[in-house]
Amino acid sequence: MSKRRPLVAGNWKMNGSRAESAALVDAVRRGVGPGARVEVALCPPFILIPLVAEKLAGGPVSWGGQSLDTHKSGAYTGEVSGPMLKDYDCAYVIVGHSERRALYGENDGVVAEKFGAAQAAGLVPILCVGETLAEREANRTEAVVARQLDAVVNKHGIASLKNAVLAYEPVWAIGTGKTATPQQAQDVHRFIRGRLAARDQAVADGLRILYGGSVKSANAKELFGQPDIDGGLIGGASLNAEEFLLICRAAD
Ligand code: PEP
Repeated sequence: MSKRRPLVAGNWKMNGSRAESAALVDAVRRGVGPGARVEVALCPPFILIPLVAEKLAGGPVSWGGQSLDTHKSGAYTGEVSGPMLKDYDCAYVIVGHSERRALYGENDGVVAEKFGAAQAAGLVPILCVGETLAEREANRTEAVVARQLDAVVNKHGIASLKNAVLAYEPVWAIGTGKTATPQQAQDVHRFIRGRLAARDQAVADGLRILYGGSVKSANAKELFGQPDIDGGLIGGASLNAEEFLLICRAAD
């Protein structure tokens, strides 16, 4: 069990009508008690953020964006900036999700810029890292995760991680139903923490590192029971309130 306050964040991806999202967010809010040890956050699509913000205001559940632009404002058609997310009281924003990296060409440099833009706007970035199946099979997991982390730490400094959350999300486990075993996940989480500890022990000790990749209520408890796993980033299962709340309870 982690010594840091666990966080379970729901990534709705591009899902949810207004009515479905309203019902989902109401159910999550009802299910999370004010005294819970676990912190719960919801990251809906941009267009649903005002609805979610209105429903969650004043309660224990936080909310955030799934991405942001690197600029504050201007001629960037289709984009949403950090200050815009902050204006809707977002606490978090996901950066470097594997879908953004793979489908929208966001390389390590762009991810590092987005990380900085998030912090500049007063948001806490949830920085995603993780290897593909081919990279795991070629024994390159640690090298890939190290490269993704270093891109951010070399640009913004190790102290920038005081105000950030990491998510280890093996690409082969996202949305596939194939979860990393608790030991596979723990091994990478320990590697990440150890690598950061070599730069700053206190920052590494305080950093929340979430696991993401086909987390369900059936496997959450064992994953969250690992010493370096501080909660989860939950995709598909966050669209079902009952299932999502069971996952949150597994981290409590
Ligand atoms: C995600 O999108 O970050 C994710 C972990 O998805 P899923 O839980 O569906 O694998």
